[in-house]
Amino acid sequence: MEDQVKRDICDIGRRMYMSGFVAANDGNISVKISDNQIITTPAGVSKGFMTPEMLCTIDLKGNVIKGKSKPSSEVKMHLRIYEENPEIGAVTHSHSPYATAFAIARRPMDRALLPEAIVNLGIVPVAEYATPGTKEVSESIAQFVKDYNSLLLANHGAVTWGIDLMQAYFRMETLEHYAKILFITTILGDAKELSSNDVSNLLEIRKSQGITTGGIPVPHNSTKNKENANEDLLAQKIADMVLKKLENR
Ligand SMILES: [Zn+2]
Repeated sequence: MEDQVKRDICDIGRRMYMSGFVAANDGNISVKISDNQIITTPAGVSKGFMTPEMLCTIDLKGNVIKGKSKPSSEVKMHLRIYEENPEIGAVTHSHSPYATAFAIARRPMDRALLPEAIVNLGIVPVAEYATPGTKEVSESIAQFVKDYNSLLLANHGAVTWGIDLMQAYFRMETLEHYAKILFITTILGDAKELSSNDVSNLLEIRKSQGITTGGIPVPHNSTKNKENANEDLLAQKIADMVLKKLENR
């Protein structure tokens, strides 16, 4: 079983690297193999070029049990995720460009815009900035682990988790894909939100898949439209006043 987990981690590492989710030695992956042990990626190695013997087995306190390499300093964040939620079986962390851009803008991805994102991710909050690799990162993420499936780390990157490695990794793919779509939508403008009825249908689908985490998207359009309508009205009034003054000259 452990050999297969190691091969799977190397495979996902290659996919993350080839997809441009990580550059150089960025990112890390871990899989829980028993109540008290995880297999994780080593420090200072590209996720695109890992072989099974490079991986380390550590306990949930961070002590190395097997493997010659040192785990990444960012494994503290993984350990905290496993500690907060014992149901979690795998964690992936990347610096994927679009999701990281949202993390830098400190903009949560919390609108009801894309069905796949609502079902597979839910909303994606932003955790406060902390220096990568420190235990402060663990503190900043702890409050989100039980209720969500993914998280943006302010000015740093993204982290996703799941019951197994595929679920955690697919959440990372969905997150980056969604962030890319959101970015393009922002340039286009005029995003139309799904209705609360559409959202509750999607939440039903999510529930039928046994997923109870992810939160519920927040409607933005209703208040935004009202604000925009008021702004438009004010702009129109000012334009009328200016025109009248010009006519009276
Ligand atoms: Zn990182």
